[in-house]
Amino acid sequence: MEEQFLKNKVAVVSGGARGIGRAIVKKLAQQGCHVTFNYLVSEQLAKDLEKEVLNTGVRCRAVKVDVKDFAGVKAWMDQIERDWEKIDILINNAGIIADKALMMMSQQDWKSVIDTNLNGMFHMARSCIVKFMKQRRGDIVNISSVSGLIGLPRQTNYSATKGAMNAFTKALAKEVAGYGVRVNAVAPGFIETDILAGLSDEFRQEILKTIPLGRIGDVEDVANCVKFLLSPAAAYLTGQIIQVDGGLAIR
Ligand code: NAD
Repeated sequence: MEEQFLKNKVAVVSGGARGIGRAIVKKLAQQGCHVTFNYLVSEQLAKDLEKEVLNTGVRCRAVKVDVKDFAGVKAWMDQIERDWEKIDILINNAGIIADKALMMMSQQDWKSVIDTNLNGMFHMARSCIVKFMKQRRGDIVNISSVSGLIGLPRQTNYSATKGAMNAFTKALAKEVAGYGVRVNAVAPGFIETDILAGLSDEFRQEILKTIPLGRIGDVEDVANCVKFLLSPAAAYLTGQIIQVDGGLAIR
């Protein structure tokens, strides 16, 4: 059902071609929101999604930009603001893993995850925050992870970035609340995406034992929470890290 609160808003979604980002792009577009998203390598998926969303009657633009490239990210956002006259929403979704025990982790494994997940988020947020402050309106939702809340073995690099993302969310929420800008995060647990597709049945059963609600999450579970955070029902929420994890990391 289409509600009105996202109608004719402009959203920027990083890493929107597949997985959770793709579900978020579709969810926002279904609500009448114009959406631009970037991709790195998934060109065909990005173009297919762009076409699908355009067919629903809203604007959509898939752009090949690496979130690690500050100048590229800024140019993308500035161009969208020129062409579509505003940006209302930023969803920081692009992220990677390079799981390894610390004793085996290379500097490259460490740096690539920090550069994408953490520096990428900075590049995205820095490129739109002044726009949001000037218009005295804006919403940022960061896609974090329970790994950043409870820490997971073989993910020191990833947990560090998601923990930092949570701290960034709280700090920026306080900094810009007076400008009418809200900043929140969603921390998913295990969600059914390409990352989990390769898991053995045995390991999948082990994972299920750790999830009180007894199932792996769906990308829709995350997209629905993002939609809620952008809705008037969440108008009094800022600086929050909402776990969408079936109870996996209840603390
Ligand atoms: P995914 O790998 O399917 O999608 C990630 C997207 O980010 C891809 O489209 C990829 O191209 C894009 N991306 C990666 N590096 C990029 C870069 N440098 N520049 C531009 N785009 C880039 O993964 P997903 O599972 O959909 O994850 C989305 C987000 O959700 C990530 O931040 C991830 O950490 C988080 N998350 C996922 C899970 C899960 O179980 N799937 C759990 C917790 C958190």
